[in-house]
Formats: sequence, structure tokens, C-alpha cells
Amino acid sequence: QQASPATDLNLSTSDQLFTRAKDLIPGGVNSPVRAFRAVGGHPVFMQSAQGAWLTDVDGNRYLDFINSWGPMILGHAPQIVLDAVAQALPASLSFGAPTRREVEMAELIIEMVPSIEKVRLVNSGTEATMSAIRVARGYTGRAKILKFEGCYHGHGDSFLIAAGSGALTLGTPDSPGVTEGVAQDTLTVPYNDLAAVAAAIEANPEQIAAIILEPVVGNIGLVPPAEGFLQGLRELCTRHGIVYIFDEVMTGFRLARGGAQELFGIDPDMTTLGKIIGGGMPVGAYGGKKEIMDQVAPAGKVYQAGTLSGNPIATAAGLAQLRYLHEHPEVYQQLERTSALLADGTRQIAAELGLHYTVNRVGSMWNVFFTQQPVTDLASAKTADLDAFGRYFRAMLHRGIYLAPSQFEALFVSTAVTDDLVDLYLTACRASLREAHG
Ligand code: PLP
Repeated sequence: QQASPATDLNLSTSDQLFTRAKDLIPGGVNSPVRAFRAVGGHPVFMQSAQGAWLTDVDGNRYLDFINSWGPMILGHAPQIVLDAVAQALPASLSFGAPTRREVEMAELIIEMVPSIEKVRLVNSGTEATMSAIRVARGYTGRAKILKFEGCYHGHGDSFLIAAGSGALTLGTPDSPGVTEGVAQDTLTVPYNDLAAVAAAIEANPEQIAAIILEPVVGNIGLVPPAEGFLQGLRELCTRHGIVYIFDEVMTGFRLARGGAQELFGIDPDMTTLGKIIGGGMPVGAYGGKKEIMDQVAPAGKVYQAGTLSGNPIATAAGLAQLRYLHEHPEVYQQLERTSALLADGTRQIAAELGLHYTVNRVGSMWNVFFTQQPVTDLASAKTADLDAFGRYFRAMLHRGIYLAPSQFEALFVSTAVTDDLVDLYLTACRASLREAHG
């Protein structure tokens, strides 16, 4: 284990690799947040991971609270998943034809998430959300979708629309390359604002195909749904014939066996799933009511396909983790307890230092916002002191604690975090909060 005083990390191999990478890969990384731009410094290149620990290419070890952005619920390299992959490997890396495991995976997903009556496997969360809104559009014959400011649904064009554009105004693209035409079909409103949703529906009568949201937001830091928000959306969708889509790419099988929809008792029309059902391998899925899913080709006319969809190795890894979660409900009690120790401990330490920061948590997703305001949406998340967060992030890294390199990301807890690791984290947290505030 890493000692608590800040160490002068030797990151020389990481630095050399990043220098090479910048010439070869845009920004030196294959996904933007990995570049550490929000917190300063260079990214750390990883070599291996086991349980709660990551080891980088220079041999430094870190207690991991990213967990590959969510999927490693059982920690890194759990033996049951490694065994399942090892067993699957000699049979084939890819058939491009149906397999038994795809049927077993569909059965398990449907059993664990009862609102899903039929499901289609894809290769990422982005594919899942892109496909889901296409199906919703095909099903309703309507063009527009409504999303919430700060919710992330992958990098499909329809979802990269400026946060902050009002509910009743037309969207503008957030990213060059997204056309005005696409942007105009995406309406955005603030999270937790039911009145804004009602107003948007009224202003766009019978034009909205789907409302999509993260039932617990993990992409502006952690923001829980306000009391009655998810149910209120359910009622609006039912009344106006809108397809209600839960994006559970982060929350599915993590917040409860049946995801956020089980936790909050909501019955969405469609659900998107991602990384978690691959146990770390590239997998996604979308599913929902039979009537809607039967629109998908070849049952119906809405086209969606994938050469590697249902890949035998990915389904082996995913099934192994899902089966474990299905058979061990005590995992969720353990995650709840450990996460409460981490989050409550952080809140208390910050308060003792006079910082009174906002700590949000639902189950094993949480984070500390460097602001004293309650954080309920994107606007309140933006009141955080980003410079102080950057200093805190670097101070924690140098104490061997690997946090998300942005204030606007959630932290994920795995079952590999034992009580002594909680203590290790809290000791580093106290020292780093002090250091970050001079
Ligand atoms: N939806 C949500 C809620 C996510 O958090 C993410 C990624 O973090 C995605 C969709 C996109 O998933 P992927 O990165 O696998 O494309």
C-alpha cells in the first residue's frame, strides 16, 4: 500500500509515452477526459490492475475510484471473470453468427430488469443510445428527442447539443461536425425541472419521440433525481405518447440488481445499458417493451446491426459478472456500506476543515463538489471551485489515490475496497484537502 504523505511520483515512462502519443493520437488519448486537461499535468499510463489497485507503467500503485468508469463492480480482474474469458478463448474470438451465450445474456438481463421484454446487444453505450432513439423515432413517427443539460449519452450527434439552450429554443450543436439540422431535433432542459419538461412538450405538440435521461446523473459529478422527478416524467410520457428511456449505462446493475429503475420503482419504456454488462469488455445493449423492440430489424423495419455484436469473449466476461451479481444480492449492501463510509467521511473531513463541501451519493456512485451549494443540476455543479479541485486531484494522485480527473465526473466504488482501504483514502483525503487549500 502507498504511504499517505505525498510522494514525488516517478512518472517518467508515462511522460515519455504521452509525448509519443501526442504525435500519433489526437490529444494523445483515445477518449478526451483521459488527458487530464481539466486538472493539469499529464495522464498516467496504466500497466495492470488487480482488485482495488492499479499499477502504472512506472510501477506506481493507486487505489482506484474510477474502475474503468463504472464496470468493474467486483474490482479489477475478478477470478470468475478471468476464468470465463479463459474458457471462452479457445472456442473463437468472433463468429459473426448467433451463440448460446447471447441467449443466456438476454435471459439474464430480462430477468434482472423486468421492464426489458426484449433486448439487442451492441458494442458500446454510444451505440445503445443512438439505436434506442432511432427505434423510438421509428415507433412514434416523431422526430424530436428531449434530453437534460449535463446528461451524457455517448457521442452520437443527437446528444452533443449545447447544455444551456433553453427548453423552448432550438438546440445548437455543442461540437463542430454536428449539423444544425440534427441539433434542431434535440430539445434540452435543466435536470430535475419537471415544469420545463412540461413546457417543452406543450411547445412541441406530438413532435417528441423520446425523453432520455440518466436516472441518476453521473456525468456532471453525481446528481440524484429530486423526489417525484422520475415519476413525474413517467406520467408526462404516458400522457403524451412519448417513449421514456432510462440511460442506465452507469447505473444498471450497479445501484441495484435491477438498476436505478428498481431503486426508484419506475417502469421505463426503454433502457440503455453499456460497459457494466461487458464486465470491462466492449458491450452495450438496448431493450424495452416488446411492442417497441419488435420495430428493430429483422423483426421490424428500424435498421440496426453490428459485426461484433454479441461477441463471444465479451459475452463470456459480461455473463460471468452479471451471474455473480444476480446470485449475490449482498454485494449491494456491501457497496452501500463502503460508499457511505467514503462519502460521509469526506463530508465530515471537509466540514472539519471549514470547507462544508457538497457530497452527493446514490449507492456506489458519489462525488464531492467543491462548492457549498446543493448540487441538483448542471448550473449548480458549475459553482464548484475547479482550481481547488485540480489541486486536490493532484495531491490525491501523489498519495496513490486515483480519482476521476474532472470535477464533473462521478466516482465508482467496487467490492474490492475494504475498511482499511477506506481509512487509507480518508487519511489521504484530509491531507490533500488541506494541501489544496494552502
Ligand atoms: N450513457 C451514459 C450514461 C454514459 O455514462 C456513457 C459513458 O460514460 C455513455 C452513455 C456512452 O457509453 P460508451 O462510452 O460506452 O460509448
